[in-house]
Amino acid sequence: MIRIIKPSVDAVAWNSIVTEDDDLAAGVSAWNEDGWATALGPWKPFFEAHAVRCEIATPPLAADVWCDLLSEWRGVLRSANEARVKLVESFKRTGDGKVDDNIYKKFMPFLLTLFNGKCAYCETLFSSNQPGDVEHFRPKGRVVDAAFRPILIEEPDSMPREHPGYYWLAYEWTNLFPACADCNRYRRHGKKAESGAGKADRFPVEGFRAHLEGDEGKEHALLIHPSDVEPSKHLVFEESGKVKATSNIGTETLAHLGLNKREFLVKERRRARVTAERFYESYLQAVITNNSSRIEQDRDRLNEMLAGREPYTVMQLMGIESVRGRLTAYGLSIPLPHGAAR
Ligand SMILES: [Zn+2]
Repeated sequence: MIRIIKPSVDAVAWNSIVTEDDDLAAGVSAWNEDGWATALGPWKPFFEAHAVRCEIATPPLAADVWCDLLSEWRGVLRSANEARVKLVESFKRTGDGKVDDNIYKKFMPFLLTLFNGKCAYCETLFSSNQPGDVEHFRPKGRVVDAAFRPILIEEPDSMPREHPGYYWLAYEWTNLFPACADCNRYRRHGKKAESGAGKADRFPVEGFRAHLEGDEGKEHALLIHPSDVEPSKHLVFEESGKVKATSNIGTETLAHLGLNKREFLVKERRRARVTAERFYESYLQAVITNNSSRIEQDRDRLNEMLAGREPYTVMQLMGIESVRGRLTAYGLSIPLPHGAAR
């Protein structure tokens, strides 16, 4: 899980997307103006000639891609806003309303582009036969607890009633994420009853639960918002591919998404770290031996990893960082944008 800050809905502001956090910004400052790395130590000439490009420091989309998407963006926003007004009015009038799936699904191309075609929660890459869901961080149609019992709204002078869901956020950009079926839907991952995972209509909070428009800001969500919350403050990814929680939010996030229960996922995360580590070693070897064709080939792949375009970026950066750590032990310092020594 890696934080990707969503640009504001104001299209003008989209051009200013840059970094994920302050640590990354600090790392980026070590890169040249045009995005090429400067390496220190005796290998400096090699790295200056063949440096890895830090694409993550620049807006994540090429200008032409932005232009294509921007032309659609305003139309999608307009229809989402109209649908939201209608839905909120319907709830005010009748206490009920129907979410139009076709409206929020129009955000998917934007979400996919921003999240590099990966699930916002587990970083699994989508494919043609697993195209991914548009997931509502706060569920749109109903809310259930950890055991899938409906959350009840209890107010004075009225009978308890089932929470209608955060319907006013059904078409809201900040509430939508691309998610894989395993993160978004509940299903079993093994024979044991407790091995089920998937968020579904659950949304854990501590204390106050909002059921009225605008009150969601008062909630203390126990689930990592992939854009607003830095996952590394709540989760520690281990070399084994397992994830450890370091807070209540981390614990609930792991439990709801099943990030450790899905064996294939744990295995793939481990594999991603090893692959990146070997790949970076291979690249360094190519640089040392001045193998120009391999340098170019390896550099492109490494750029994809650094830019977060491959699955399990957290693990890949861990692998690259471990090689970098070994280099540091030999007195070499090669700046990398993310996971650099603090
Ligand atoms: Zn997922």
